[in-house]
Amino acid sequence: MLFADFAANIIQHGDAQAIAALIARTRQASQTEKQALFNAADAARRPYYGKSIFFRGLIEFSSFCKNNCYYCGIRAGNDSAVRYRLSKEEILSCTDKGHALGFRTFVLQGGEDPYYTDDLICDIVSAIKDKHPDCAITLSIGEKSYESYRRYFEAGAERYLLRHETASNAHYHKLHPAQMSPEHRKQCLRDLQEIGYQVGAGFMVESPWQTDETLAQDFLFLRDLQPHMIGIGPFIPHHDTQFAGMKSPSSDFTLLLLALLRLMMPKILLPATTALGTIDPLGREKALRAGANVVMPNLSPKAHRKDYLLYDNKICTGEEAAECLQCLSGRIAFAGFKPDFSRGDHVDCLERVHPL
Ligand code: SAH
Repeated sequence: MLFADFAANIIQHGDAQAIAALIARTRQASQTEKQALFNAADAARRPYYGKSIFFRGLIEFSSFCKNNCYYCGIRAGNDSAVRYRLSKEEILSCTDKGHALGFRTFVLQGGEDPYYTDDLICDIVSAIKDKHPDCAITLSIGEKSYESYRRYFEAGAERYLLRHETASNAHYHKLHPAQMSPEHRKQCLRDLQEIGYQVGAGFMVESPWQTDETLAQDFLFLRDLQPHMIGIGPFIPHHDTQFAGMKSPSSDFTLLLLALLRLMMPKILLPATTALGTIDPLGREKALRAGANVVMPNLSPKAHRKDYLLYDNKICTGEEAAECLQCLSGRIAFAGFKPDFSRGDHVDCLERVHPL
C-alpha cells in the first residue's frame, strides 16, 4: 500500500498505539513519502473547499491574563509583559477597517481578562453584528461558564477557538499550574458544541514533554470531538517563561501533523498559523500545500501588536493591517491558491448559516 493511503487509513481508524507508531514512522519517512503525504492532504480538501484559502481578521484585544500557562509570554506572572486592552470603540474601528479591506470574519482573541465582563463582551459582539451583519464573529477568550458561552452566542458570536493544548492530562499538568484543569478545558469544548458554536480545538507542536503517545491522544481526542477547526502551530519559547532557551522547533514536524489532520478530517478548517510563519519564512505557504486552508492576518492596531507576545520573534508586528493583507494575499495567490474573503464557514454549516 502507498504510504499516504496507509497513513490515511491509520489516522482515520487506528487506535492510540497504531497512531503513535504512524507518527514515529512519519518522522522517519523519505522525502518522497513526505511529499506524497502533503499531496494527498492537499487533494483531500479540494472536493469541499477547492483552492480557497479563507481569510480571518485577527484582533488581539487584550494582553492582560489571569492565568499562568507556563509557556505563554502574556501569563499573569510575567512582570515584564507590556499590558494593553482595547476599548469597544477601538475594536469597532478595527472591524470597520477590516470590513473595508474585505474581511467577512473576525477573530477576537485575548488573555483571560476579567475587565471584559460578559455584559461588555456581549455589547461588543452585538455592536459588530449590528454594523456588519454579513460577518461571522469568532471568540477566543478562554474558559468560561456554560451560561457565559450561551450569552455570547445569543449576542451573535458563532464560532469559538479554544485549543485543548494537549489531550494527555499528565502532559497538561506539566504545562499549566495546578489550578488549571484539563477536564474543565475539554468540558468547555463540549459545552460550546452543545450551544451550537462552530468550535476550534488544537495544540502546540513540540511543546515540552510532548511525545508521539501524547500526540496520538490528541488525534483520538479530535477524532472523537469532531470540531470544525483545528489550530496547531509550533511551540516557540518565550524569553520570560520557564521554557526560555529551549530548542527552537523546525517547521517540518508541524507540516507533517497538518497533513495527517487533513487526512483524518478532510472537511476541517485548518489554519496556517503565524507561529509557523515565525519559525520558517515560507512556513505558511508550505502549510497550505500540506492541507491548511485558513490564514489569520493581524488587524490589531499597530501600536499594540508587539505587546501581544505569546512567543519570541512573532512576525507581522510592524505593518499596518492593509500592508500585511496585501503581502499575504499576494503570497497565497503566488503559491497557486485563491484568497477567499467570504465568511468561510465549515462545509457542513453552510445550510444552517445561509438557509435557502
Ligand atoms: N486566552 C485564550 C487565547 C490563548 S493564546 C485561550 O485560553 O484560549 C492562543 C494560543 O497560543 C494558545 O492556545 C496556545 O496554544 C498558543 N501559544 C501560547 N504560547 C505559545 C508559545 N510560546 N508558542 C506557541 N504557541 C503558543
